[in-house]
Amino acid sequence: MSSTVSTERTFKGIAAAPGVAHGPAFIFVNGEVDIPKHSVPAERLEEEISRFEQGLMETRRQISAIRAEVQEKVGEDEASIFDAHQLVLEDRALIEDTIKEVKETSFNIEYCFQTVANRYIDAFAQIDDDYIKERVSDIRDVTRRMLCNLVGHQDKQISELVDRNILVADDLNPSEAATLDVESVVAIVTEYGSRTSHAVIVARSLNIPSVVGVHGLVEKVNFGDQILVDGFEGVVVLNPSKETLERYGQIRSRREAKLAEYFAERNQPLITKDDRSLRLLLNVEGVESDDILRNSGADGVGLLRTEMLFLREENFPDEEAQLKVYRRIAEAMESKPVTIRTLDLGGDKNPHNSLYGYQEANPFMGFRAIRFCLEHPKVFKEQLRAILRASAFGQVQVLYPMISSCEELVAANALLEECKEELAGKGIAFDPAIRRGCMIEVPSAAVISDLLAKHCDFFSIGTNDLVQYLLAVDRINDRISHLYQPNHPAVMRALSFIFEAGKRNGIPVSVCGELAGDPLYAPLLFGLGADELSLSWSSLPQLKFLLRRMRMKDARRLAVKVLRSESADEIQAHLKGFCEEVMGLRASEFTSV
Ligand code: PEP
Ligand code: MG
Repeated sequence: MSSTVSTERTFKGIAAAPGVAHGPAFIFVNGEVDIPKHSVPAERLEEEISRFEQGLMETRRQISAIRAEVQEKVGEDEASIFDAHQLVLEDRALIEDTIKEVKETSFNIEYCFQTVANRYIDAFAQIDDDYIKERVSDIRDVTRRMLCNLVGHQDKQISELVDRNILVADDLNPSEAATLDVESVVAIVTEYGSRTSHAVIVARSLNIPSVVGVHGLVEKVNFGDQILVDGFEGVVVLNPSKETLERYGQIRSRREAKLAEYFAERNQPLITKDDRSLRLLLNVEGVESDDILRNSGADGVGLLRTEMLFLREENFPDEEAQLKVYRRIAEAMESKPVTIRTLDLGGDKNPHNSLYGYQEANPFMGFRAIRFCLEHPKVFKEQLRAILRASAFGQVQVLYPMISSCEELVAANALLEECKEELAGKGIAFDPAIRRGCMIEVPSAAVISDLLAKHCDFFSIGTNDLVQYLLAVDRINDRISHLYQPNHPAVMRALSFIFEAGKRNGIPVSVCGELAGDPLYAPLLFGLGADELSLSWSSLPQLKFLLRRMRMKDARRLAVKVLRSESADEIQAHLKGFCEEVMGLRASEFTSV
């Protein structure tokens, strides 16, 4: 870590979630700790062992301090997690095995401790027992902290974040984002990631301003340094001067005034200037309050991502636990539709990156979503039954992610039918005519959308994935984020093709990727033929406000121009022109995918 920088420095990243915030930095480093390996002469082995003992003491001291702070600011339940961490440090076997390893191998202490701890982690990970699984995660956390102390790194856990801080991380995974406390984090800045990485999607749903792709920032910031984050423009200012803070204070007030204007109209019907009625739905993670669900101005939930329920806890929630969440949302939305997507774990949504006991080389193209569910029918059916049971309390529909063939869709439907029979056999209520949706987010599904339409009741286009797979551009790799072009002519043609397939087969098509909440793209999506758009609750008021001032006739004209365009640049110019000329919005007034 560098020495304290007191002069103002500005960094440019990717604007990921809107808003401006200011506060002290809390640094969280997610990557592996670099552990050196070297031989130690026999006469210095005792010194290594005493370093180990000091490391243990320092780590115990840190954990006690965190425990006390978490207890005071959050509560005893959360604080008791750290008791389990202390127990790991008191484990005689772990300590004695490490000392034995040093004596037998003559390698340095951090290397020996890591070797022994990993041996424990690997052995425990094989055991299929919920209690042991929790212990594995404790050992992992404590090992990391201990190793950081031994090599002289400062290490912090996300759970220590209890003040109103700016979270500065090298990277953030969705399970970490899912456990963030919105009261404690006022903004997020990461070195890696993109607008469509799931951690960012979660941040947006929690309404936390975020900037990603700020390379090298962690090295330049110290704990407690003042940071200003502009999630509209993708700007991060380290040690902002008084003038900068004043300037941003004004920008913030102006933006807040605009948002208040949008917000005031959110419950008005969405009817365009030429009298076309349009529908906007919500993307939710299952943790949103009833107030958000009831008062967002949406016509329903277009996408309930269920992964967060599975990522928040060490173990998968059972049927009853899932039913509780799905039922709450179904009831809160009253008679409006609630689309519950079945589990889409995998890709970047992988707890501890080890869902399947091994690391995948290409997780986005790996054992993900429906592929995982069809091979784990017990997990899948438990979820399907919970969804079916929730359908007795509202207008619930089920949606399958990552479908790439008719066989997968047919197999998923067959399991749904089995679940219906099981519930009917027990006399448990559900909607027998529950509507079944197919996500179109893999190019093969787009190409056979006319065939898929025969096996489902609606389509939902996941543009986040469709763009990455169609263009072969990893959606979370900021190194190639300039190639992640939703405005590529291939994407436009694919979208138009899917909307057509839906129309010809008489099923509605909605769009639920991040493009749907983007003021630049939303008019185009309706112009191309979308029946409805599903987006985060924080993007909804602005979008509704703008669409109420648009004419569908103009959106259709825009679609015709876009479909005739040869390049992403040309398409971008059309989209920007439309936003500015037809909707009266300047590009700096919103963040775009
Ligand atoms: C998508 O791919 O666009 C989508 C909505 O699903 P997710 O972002 O969860 O992969
Ligand atoms: Mg997807």
